[in-house]
Amino acid sequence: MAEARELCAAAPARLAEWVAAGWVEALAADRTLLATAPSQAPSVAPPLHEEQRAAVEAIGAAASFAPFLLHGVTGSGKTEVYLHAMAQVLARDAHAQVLMLVPEINLTPQLQSRIAARFPHLPLAVLHSGLADQERSLQWLAAHRGEARIVLGTRMAVMASMPHLALIVVDEEHDTSYKQQEGLRYSARDLAVWRAKRLAIPVVLGSATPSMETWWRAEQGAYRKLVLRERAQAEAALPSVRLIDLNHERQRQRALFEGLSVPLLEAIDARLARGEQSLLFLNRRGYAPVLACDSCGWLSGCPRCSAYLVLHRPERRLRCHHCGLESPVPHHCPDCGNMDIAPLGRGTQRIEEALAARFPQARIARIDADSTRRKGSAQAMFDDVHAGEVDILVGTQMVAKGHDFQRVTLVASFTPTPPCSATISARPSICSPR
Ligand SMILES: [Zn+2]
Ligand SMILES: [Zn+2]
Repeated sequence: MAEARELCAAAPARLAEWVAAGWVEALAADRTLLATAPSQAPSVAPPLHEEQRAAVEAIGAAASFAPFLLHGVTGSGKTEVYLHAMAQVLARDAHAQVLMLVPEINLTPQLQSRIAARFPHLPLAVLHSGLADQERSLQWLAAHRGEARIVLGTRMAVMASMPHLALIVVDEEHDTSYKQQEGLRYSARDLAVWRAKRLAIPVVLGSATPSMETWWRAEQGAYRKLVLRERAQAEAALPSVRLIDLNHERQRQRALFEGLSVPLLEAIDARLARGEQSLLFLNRRGYAPVLACDSCGWLSGCPRCSAYLVLHRPERRLRCHHCGLESPVPHHCPDCGNMDIAPLGRGTQRIEEALAARFPQARIARIDADSTRRKGSAQAMFDDVHAGEVDILVGTQMVAKGHDFQRVTLVASFTPTPPCSATISARPSICSPR
């Protein structure tokens, strides 16, 4: 109430009326903090390697506006650099606040746990569009009042009011999710740099594959480049990668099973036998990208735009992923009447179906925009994967970014363009062996 009075003398009376009318609800202030954070056992910071230490020192030495590009390959330990830099800033001033941006909502829970474990006594607020309105406003208030020392969020969090902001971290700075494409258009990454400049504080842009803009600024000396070349842990070795040319497989007369090659099927078999997980990445959702007529060459083109209608078999619909047009699946060719029209190519649904037929004993999960339409379903599925309830995970880019799947020891990635049609990595870098 005191805060409301500060804003406007009449505010407390007005608020009381609104409470009486049931329009607003009074909440205890302490609910604002850590309302969604899982309880965590405190963790100890691992030792840094030389390049990490140099990066942390450089960030720590910045006394005013200082933009950094933290350029490090996957597995080089960028997150540890962020956490150490945050620890420095937070320890220096009892009020200091740190803002950390990540590109995707589904990256927040894991990072949230990691931050909460590292800073068990510091209140953490989380801001992203997946929160219910009330929860989001509580988190926002915690940031605004300076109670939350760390704010973790997606692009919207760059707008968070933080009175004692002392450091901004933008992870995966190249990610296009930082751009708001509709309504108020902005780039959260660029806004982060602008905010840091106004506040005269350091800002760290981290990436393994920096954007052209950021790279250019670093080359020009406008941003300071911090490079991590080493991998953080010796055992997190580079994955062994194998390229399988499906045309070559066909020439050798090795049968493909629904586009899945023999070496891939054997590799999955071995993982199932050992109780390990396999991840199949295909950036094409739906069952098949097009429906085709064998006799006249008709293809399921979208009548409204230049794309093809994608077959979604479980829902028995054709959908244009471009303009959103939907129609039922025709029973015969609309041009020549041929009953024998067939799906051409494959999407995640078809791969899932093929895997279920080939590995009937395996627990298979498909994670894409179609299977995760329901709120919370993506998180539930990821939880299952982390808990070892899934043997084979099939998915689009949703499964490719940022997850630390500890039990995954095989990754297959399908690329539509020759010559490489499928790549297998055994013991990929994203799974540091335990
Ligand atoms: Zn036809
Ligand atoms: Zn269309």
